[in-house]
Amino acid sequence: MDTILNISNLTKQYGNLTAVNNLSFTIKKGNVYGILGPNGSGKSTTLGITLNVVNKTSGDFSWFDGQTSTHDALKKVGAIIERPNFYPYMSAYKNLKLVCKIKGITEEKIDEKLELVGLLDRKDSKFKTFSLGMKQRLAIASALLNDPEILILDEPTNGLDPQGIHQIRAIIKDIASQGTTILLASHLLDEVEKVCSHVVVLRKGNKLYEGPVDQMISSDGFFELKCDNNTALLDYLNTHPNIKNTKVTEDLITAFLNAPTSAASFNKELLDKGIALSHLVLRKESLEEQFLQLTDNLEDKN
Ligand code: ADP
Repeated sequence: MDTILNISNLTKQYGNLTAVNNLSFTIKKGNVYGILGPNGSGKSTTLGITLNVVNKTSGDFSWFDGQTSTHDALKKVGAIIERPNFYPYMSAYKNLKLVCKIKGITEEKIDEKLELVGLLDRKDSKFKTFSLGMKQRLAIASALLNDPEILILDEPTNGLDPQGIHQIRAIIKDIASQGTTILLASHLLDEVEKVCSHVVVLRKGNKLYEGPVDQMISSDGFFELKCDNNTALLDYLNTHPNIKNTKVTEDLITAFLNAPTSAASFNKELLDKGIALSHLVLRKESLEEQFLQLTDNLEDKN
């Protein structure tokens, strides 16, 4: 599969603060990538470096085949990393015409891109009459005017109402389905889960996970257990191959699984060992819990 962007050992320091720490990942053509992390985790800095608006401290990045200069490569990149800024008294159409003139591209795609973002019927309305969501959609149309290989978006739904958020996410999926690679930064796990196929999880500039979204969110769940003899139960759990780790809170034992395990067979197994449970429930972790676990793990290692 073709490489769109390769980042290797990228580091950015602002004085003593390491905003991005030895970060490496690769963007392949045709996928939708999310950089996911809490505010301040280095997402915008990473995007800024690849777009030549922030200087790296060390490491490297290369666009496409690695032979193209960043200046030339960026002609094939559509990016929205700031709040959309257009002329308030000019219509949507005229604003995009101006963008074409500035970028030296033909005006023939304007209607097609306005249609794609659902603004064709508002093409003659002044920019200042647009809602925040419409402004963001116009910015997306603008970034797509030259049919870029990749569209880069920084927190594309920030500040929007639920309907606006839904529209932007649907448009991103539409654009991806037409074959454009997408890279978006978001602090919302839910957004990345809904929109992206791949994810890079960042925390304090460090990469915690890179890979398909569905692998990040797959989990075998956990058992909630109660019994009269916790010592015997814990002894058994701690040597069980399907149990990753256990947590004890008052009289409840939580046993996290690392392989699919049915409650019925587990119950029988315990009974055979002479351990009778008074409570057994198999639960799945919510995405939120898994994300928190992922970001907590680093703290353990530090
Ligand atoms: P995110 O996009 O994930 O919210 P940023 O890349 O904006 O994170 O910021 C990463 C870290 O770098 C933060 O601690 C932020 O305060 C710091 N930072 C970002 N830009 C600058 C700057 N121009 N000068 C100093 N520190 C900065």
